[in-house]
Amino acid sequence: MRLRFVGCGDAFGSGGRYNTCFHVTGEKANFLIDCGASSLPALKRNGISADEIDLVMITHFHGDHFGGLPFLMLDAQFSRRTRPLVIAGPQGIERRLEQAMEALFEKSSKRERRFELRLVTLTPAATASLGAVEVTPFPMVHGDSGGPFLGYRIKVEGRIIAFTGDTEWTDALIPLGREAELFISECYFYDKSVKNHLNLKTLQAHLAEIRPKRLILTHMGEDMLQRIDTLGIETASDGLVVEI
Ligand SMILES: [Zn+2]
Ligand SMILES: [Zn+2]
Repeated sequence: MRLRFVGCGDAFGSGGRYNTCFHVTGEKANFLIDCGASSLPALKRNGISADEIDLVMITHFHGDHFGGLPFLMLDAQFSRRTRPLVIAGPQGIERRLEQAMEALFEKSSKRERRFELRLVTLTPAATASLGAVEVTPFPMVHGDSGGPFLGYRIKVEGRIIAFTGDTEWTDALIPLGREAELFISECYFYDKSVKNHLNLKTLQAHLAEIRPKRLILTHMGEDMLQRIDTLGIETASDGLVVEI
């Protein structure tokens, strides 16, 4: 099984990085975690066929995690996709997707499609089975707009992939990431404490409780990117492929 960081940037293109989008493939699994605004060009740059993706899981409704869906949907219509697609996300996913599609490509949410689209609402602590994937959502803490905010603990083909989405520190990160084969954590700042996001020092203070088998940092702002070579910790980069 492999995970490719299609995009690992923040909302502002720091370091020229694409918005958040991870592509996971295994024997059966083929899914995305988040689909930020720049994700369709990023998928194409990596030679990934969007039409083969069965599932997209969205952590929250900020544009750098969710804004690529209208492009993905329109592309699927024009490419004559027939494979069913599941889009799963927090409460409100149906309404938010329709609003985003109408805002960016008027009437696109109403067009007839050749493929079946299923929208699934994910709620904290309720494990959902989505094809090859079993996902347990955890509530994250990320401000007062664009939520609900979820982090995902994903069981797929015998491995655990955990992703924080965007969040400041919350104890929910401990069960979310505990002993995961791959724990992907947002890490916006190095040691600066801000609302809504994590910094490395805070994360490191809790790593003994989380005990991930592998940790990769993502969603880094300029403050982190400037130190990336001296951290001694694995960090994501656009296009990076990880075997799990
Ligand atoms: Zn973000
Ligand atoms: Zn966000």
